[in-house]
Amino acid sequence: MNYSTKAALEIKDPYFELDTAHFKDAIEDQGNQVIVHLIQSYPLHCPRCGQLMLKNGFKLVKVLGPSLHYEPTIWSIRKQKYLCKPSLNCPQTITKVAKVEDVKYHHHISQAIKQRVMMQLTVNESQTDIAKELGISDWTVRRVIF
Ligand SMILES: [Zn+2]
Repeated sequence: MNYSTKAALEIKDPYFELDTAHFKDAIEDQGNQVIVHLIQSYPLHCPRCGQLMLKNGFKLVKVLGPSLHYEPTIWSIRKQKYLCKPSLNCPQTITKVAKVEDVKYHHHISQAIKQRVMMQLTVNESQTDIAKELGISDWTVRRVIF
C-alpha cells in the first residue's frame, strides 16, 4: 500500500495491506458505509522452538476505522493464522494469530466506536439497529453502553 493511501485511511500498522488479491475494490463504498478490505501477514517465529511458523489460513475480524467520505468505515481485516507442528523441540501444536502491534490503534478504534454508538443512542435507536448500521456486533454496542 502506498504512503498516501495509508495516510488517508489513517493506518499505522506497518503490516496492513489492501486485500487486492481477494477484492477488485479493496476500498468498497456501499453508499451508506465504506468497507476497507485489509490483509495482515508477516513472518512469525514460534515462541517455543523459534522455527518459522506455517501460515494456516486467515481469521476475519471487523473493526470500525476512521470515517472515509463521512460514512462509517469498517475495516475488514484478514489476519494471518500461524501453526507450528509438533516436533522434538516443540512437542505440542502451537497456534498464533497476527497481532496489531500498535496499542494506540486499539485505543483509536474503541474510541471511534464509542463516539459513534453514543451519537446513535442520542437519537434513540435500538442496540440491534446501531450494531447493524455500524457493522459491529450487538456485543460491542453493549460493551460501550455498560
Ligand atoms: Zn514450535
